Amino acid sequence: MRDFRYQRAHDVSSALALRGADPEARYLGGGTNLVDLMKTGVERPALLVDVRELPLDGIESTDGGGLRIGATVTNSDLAAHPDVRRRYPALAQAVLAGASGQLRNMATVGGNLLQRTRCAYFTDPHTPCNKRRPGSGCAALQGEHRNHAILGATDHCVATHPSDMAVALAAFDAAVTYESAEGPGRLPLAEFYLPVGDTPHLETALPPGALITGVTLPPAPVAARSRYRKVRERASYAFAIGSVAAALDVRDGVVREARLAFGAVASRPWRAHEAERALTGGPASAEAFAAAADAELAAARPLPDNAYKVTLMRNLVVALLSELTEEANR
Ligand code: SF4
Repeated sequence: MRDFRYQRAHDVSSALALRGADPEARYLGGGTNLVDLMKTGVERPALLVDVRELPLDGIESTDGGGLRIGATVTNSDLAAHPDVRRRYPALAQAVLAGASGQLRNMATVGGNLLQRTRCAYFTDPHTPCNKRRPGSGCAALQGEHRNHAILGATDHCVATHPSDMAVALAAFDAAVTYESAEGPGRLPLAEFYLPVGDTPHLETALPPGALITGVTLPPAPVAARSRYRKVRERASYAFAIGSVAAALDVRDGVVREARLAFGAVASRPWRAHEAERALTGGPASAEAFAAAADAELAAARPLPDNAYKVTLMRNLVVALLSELTEEANR
């Protein structure tokens, strides 16, 4: 592990200044991903700027019924917050589906958004990996890719994004707020994560040195009727092999509004716009739900060992939307 310096920032401007003064500096939140990567040599910062004491740990209601969530809110506090549980239950469920209790007590909202893929080749510095070392190749294409992407991937990288939280945030049109040397900024989540293309090492649209200050969730009455479902290889403390965040407004057997986002199938949370379009205005039936899933998954390009994810995601969509419909009919 490379020797590094450590400094604690007490306000946003000092955090930006510390980071701006050293191109090899990194912000430290809970450290639950960054420190692991430092131990394996994948991340080699010269300076850690600890941002955990910044005054960014609040969760507040916004006009009209949205939420503003600070970047240093821990996953545990986010999942337990009454407004999150009542107004965006799929978000609370997604956060609780991630990691272990101890890790959720440490991990922060900002760090969760910026966590890196768990592709085994990315975390092993001795293998080719375009994300870790641009131009070196992608060992997963011919290697172990059972848990890799089926949507939006390229021959340059087929890794998935590991966050559960970000999947629910994608379904609810969240936006990321940040401060940078040029001033404050805001990125809708759909623009926050960059497509893979031929530059998988470039993961977000954040300006260099920018500090995430929070996430905003717009008002979304449909979100109160939402769920998150995660499939993983063991019952807890494992990353998803497929997940769905879904919200449904059903009246008189007709879908008035649907929100769907997929996790563990792409390099970023995958908002299922095709499926939402197919659902809206149609019958709330298992057949219609399966057809909507098929509309979204028509774009899937599975690898030899992960074609099972297409069926898995289809079944997850049908199961989750059927449960939400039953709930609406009670
Ligand atoms: Fe690296 Fe992406 Fe290939 Fe994994 S899938 S080895 S992260 S380039």
